[in-house]
Amino acid sequence: MSETYVALLGTKGGPAIRPGSAMPTSNLLCLKGERIVVDCGLGVTRGLVDQGMQLEDLSTVFITHMHSDHYLEFGPLIHTAWTAGLKTPVDVWGPQGMQANWDGFVLSMKADIDLRIADEGRPDLRDLVRIHMLDAGEVLRRGDLTVSAIRTAHPPLVDCFALSFRTDATHVVFSGDTAPLPALEDFARGADLLIHEAMLESALPALLARVGNGSDKLMEHWLRSHSFAHDAAKTATGADVGMLALSHLIPSDDPAYTDRHWRDAVEGFWDGPLHIGTDGMRIIL
Ligand SMILES: [Zn+2]
Ligand SMILES: [Zn+2]
Repeated sequence: MSETYVALLGTKGGPAIRPGSAMPTSNLLCLKGERIVVDCGLGVTRGLVDQGMQLEDLSTVFITHMHSDHYLEFGPLIHTAWTAGLKTPVDVWGPQGMQANWDGFVLSMKADIDLRIADEGRPDLRDLVRIHMLDAGEVLRRGDLTVSAIRTAHPPLVDCFALSFRTDATHVVFSGDTAPLPALEDFARGADLLIHEAMLESALPALLARVGNGSDKLMEHWLRSHSFAHDAAKTATGADVGMLALSHLIPSDDPAYTDRHWRDAVEGFWDGPLHIGTDGMRIIL
């Protein structure tokens, strides 16, 4: 298979799901048949299968940061792939904390894992996963694929990364979660596709009234640690990318706000091809 595309599997920002909402963040990057999973929010396993992926082929996973909307289903994805026939190693790049997350997961599933090894003859799941520390700089070079990372502005977290996947033919950049980040323009310079997180400014007061905790803390977090749609659009224009996809959408479940509102929000800041993320959307490169 030589298809090259990004599938946005989960496109909402934040871990909560509610009637009508999208699923939290996960993506499948398919580069000339090589499949790379970027983030493992709730729903990633179903999302991959819905893209036609055989889970036993899972080999490469990146986790941008340790917020649950990006890694809650990491362990369950690997375990489900194992029960679907995974026998080969899975290389995982993630920030500090991923090893502890994995160790805790397999400990919590020890009885089931031991049982399936003894009863079904499966290989030991604990030996199949190799966690690598994700840090800024060049992360991986494999064939003609180069993966690199920069730190984003996502306080209070320090280890949150934007990721660049570049081959001879294709360049895709994920913003990760971030406040407006000037360094992203150089990092994404000339990319075919920038997938950038986005909030809809006009929708935030209603969202806060609906899901807030009675204080201003949630609004303060949004403003300090995330980007508006027009910020993403400005970055895309500054980086001169080929396409912009908005994902990690906040809000994602307010019927009062539609595709039109997102398009209006970037008008005047970006005039290239624009994708407003929906779960399962496949962007051909
Ligand atoms: Zn997030
Ligand atoms: Zn986050």
